[in-house]
Amino acid sequence: MPVPEVDADLCTGCELCVDIAPNTFELNDEGISVVIDPEGDDEDVIQEAIDSCPTEAISWAE
Ligand code: SF4
Repeated sequence: MPVPEVDADLCTGCELCVDIAPNTFELNDEGISVVIDPEGDDEDVIQEAIDSCPTEAISWAE
């Protein structure tokens, strides 16, 4: 089952992924997106968040 991963070095904290998939991503205290629940949203919603990330910081990991 693939799970989404955020590369903290690439994330700019633009919050787009949080807006699209709020049950999966959250900004941490440093303003960087973290995965709070890898199955928090439907896979196609998470995919939309991945596709929308301006810095391509999110990817699927096994
Ligand atoms: S969309 Fe990308 S850059 Fe923006 S907060 Fe999410 S992971 Fe970070």
